[in-house]
Amino acid sequence: MVTLNSKIPEGPLAEKWSKYKSSMKLVNPANKKKLDIILVGTGLAGASAASSLGELGYNVKVFCFQDTPRRAHSVAAQGGINAAKNYKNDGDSVYRLFYDMIKGGDYRAREANVYRAAEVSNATIDQLTAQGVPFAREYGGTLDNRSFGGVQVSRTFYAKGQTGQQCILGAYSGLSRQVKNGTVKMFSRREMLELIIVDGKARGIITRNLITGEIERHSGHAVVLATGGYGTIYYLSTLAVNSNASAAWTAYKKGAFWGNPSFIQIHPSSIPVLNDYQAKLTLMSESLRNDGRVWAPKKKGDKRPANDIPEEERDYYLERRYPAYGNLVPRDVGSRAAKERCDAGYGVGDTGLAVNLDFKDAIAKQGKEAIEEKYGNLFEMYEKITGINPYEEPMRIYPAGHYTMGGLWVDYELMTTIPGLFAIGESNFSDHGANRLGASSLMQCSGDGYFIIPNTIGNYLADEIRTPKIPTDTHEFEEAEKAVKSKIEKLLSVNGRQTVTSFHKRLGKILWDYSGMTRNEEGLKKGLVLVDELEKEFWKDV
Ligand SMILES: Cc1cc2nc3c(=O)[nH]c(=O)nc-3n(C[C@H](O)[C@H](O)[C@H](O)COP(=O)(O)OP(=O)(O)OC[C@H]3O[C@@H](n4cnc5c(N)ncnc54)[C@H](O)[C@@H]3O)c2cc1C
Repeated sequence: MVTLNSKIPEGPLAEKWSKYKSSMKLVNPANKKKLDIILVGTGLAGASAASSLGELGYNVKVFCFQDTPRRAHSVAAQGGINAAKNYKNDGDSVYRLFYDMIKGGDYRAREANVYRAAEVSNATIDQLTAQGVPFAREYGGTLDNRSFGGVQVSRTFYAKGQTGQQCILGAYSGLSRQVKNGTVKMFSRREMLELIIVDGKARGIITRNLITGEIERHSGHAVVLATGGYGTIYYLSTLAVNSNASAAWTAYKKGAFWGNPSFIQIHPSSIPVLNDYQAKLTLMSESLRNDGRVWAPKKKGDKRPANDIPEEERDYYLERRYPAYGNLVPRDVGSRAAKERCDAGYGVGDTGLAVNLDFKDAIAKQGKEAIEEKYGNLFEMYEKITGINPYEEPMRIYPAGHYTMGGLWVDYELMTTIPGLFAIGESNFSDHGANRLGASSLMQCSGDGYFIIPNTIGNYLADEIRTPKIPTDTHEFEEAEKAVKSKIEKLLSVNGRQTVTSFHKRLGKILWDYSGMTRNEEGLKKGLVLVDELEKEFWKDV
C-alpha cells in the first residue's frame, strides 16, 4: 500500500522553502551531465522547466504533440499573471497573495505549496521581463498591474489580452537557446502513450511519432509531466481542442495517484454556445470585468435588445449581491450567479443562456481608446465570432469549462506517488484547491518550471548519480511497446461507422449535464450509467 507523504518541511510557512533549499541534496556539474531527464510538455510549465534544467547542465529530452513547442495551449492565456510586487502600493504582500489563493480555493489547497508559489512569483516576473516579455507599463516605465477576481488589490501583470502568448514566447526563446547549446533535445509532433517503470521508478516513456506513426522508446533517470489540464472532458471548453489528459492518465494507470479529480473550474465569461457544430468555446478574459459590468434584465423573459433596456430595469446582480468584490468575484461565485439568473428566467439572447457584460459606463468615463488599449484584441475576437460590436452593445457571456484544479497528486517536491515521476503546472493538483483564482495559473506554471522543479529534482537525482544510462532494450520497454501497439491495433480493428469526435462530443454532453456546474447524487448515478453505455458503443462502432 502506498503511504502518502507530502514531505512538507518543518517550521513556519515563510521559512519552509529557504530551509528546504539550504538542506536539499545537490548534484555537482560533472554529474549533471550524466543524468537524463524526460520532460513531456512545452507550455509555460514545461518550457520554463526545460530551459532551466538544460541551463543547469542536465541532458533534457522534451516532447510535445504540437508542431512547435510555442503552440502549447499556454499560448491562449489572455488576462495576466500574478505576482506580489506591490507596485500599486495597495497593501499587497506574499502573505496576502498566499491568503487570497487559499481562500479563493475554498481552503482545499496545500498551504506550504501555495505559500511557496506566492514567494517565487516576484522572481518569475523578473525572469520573464528579462527574457523580453513585453508586459504593459505605466507612464513612468514601471510594469503596470490590473485586478482579477477574488482579490482586492491589483497584482496582475499583463500584455494586453495576450499574456500567455508573450510569456510562452519568452520561455520558448530560453528553450531554443538550450536546444542550440545542446543540453535540450526537442521532439515535437510526439505523443506520449505509456510510462515506463523499472524497479518501481519512472525511467522512460513510449511515444508515437505523429508524422510517421512510428512507436519510439525514450529513457531517462527521471520523468517530468507538464502536460496541462483535462477541461476538454466537456468537449466544449475554453481549452485548445487537442488539450487532453492522456499522458497524466497513463501515469494514473501505472499507479500515480490523482488528487481532487472533481475540482474543475467553470469560467463565468465565455462566449455562449452559438450552434451545434462548434468544437470549442472562446473565453472572454476575466480582466474585462475590471471595466465591464455584468447584468441581466430585472424583468423575467425580457427579450428587448440590451441597449433598449433602461438603466433602472437592469439588475447588476454581482454588484448587488457582493458589494466588496463587485464584478470581480471569484470565478465559481460568478458562474453560479450567472447560472442562477438564467435558470430563473432572466437570461438574454435566443437561448436565454447568457447575461450581459457591458462597457457602456467605462467607455463613457475613460473613452473608447483607453478601453481599446487594454482589451482591443479581445473585443476584436468577440466581434469576429458573434458579429456584435462590443463597443456599442454589451457582450453576451455564459459559464464554460475552463481549468482543472485536480490533477496528479504531488508532494512538496512536485513528485507523484511514483518515485522519479514529477508533475508540474496544470497537470498537478497542488496549488488551487477547489477554485483557481485568475492569473494564478501562469504564475504557478512558470514558478514550478523556473524555480521549484530545478531544485527539487536535484534532491531526487542526487541519489541517481551512480545509475548508468537507462537502456531501452529491456523487457519493461518491450512489454510497454507491445501493449501500446496492441491498443492501437484494437482501436483500428473496430472499423465502426462513428468518428472519435462524435463520441467525444456525446461524452462531453453527459459530463456537462450530470457532472458540470451543479451535481447531485441522482445525476451522478445516471451519468455513470450513460458513460458506461457510451463506452460499450464506442468499442463496437468507432
Ligand atoms: C482561454 C484560456 C485563457 C487563460 N488565461 C489565463 C490567464 O490569463 N492567466 C492565467 O494564469 N491562466 C490562464 N489560463 C490557464 C493557463 O493558460 C493554463 O492553466 C496554463 O497555460 C497551463 O500550462 P501548462 O504548461 O501546465 O500546460 P499546457 O500549456 O496546456 O501545455 C501542455 C503541453 O503538454 C503537451 N502534452 C500533453 N499531453 C501530451 C502527450 N500525451 N504527449 C506529448 N505531449 C503532450 C502539449 O503538447 C503541450 O506542450 C487560461 C486558460 C485558457 C483555456
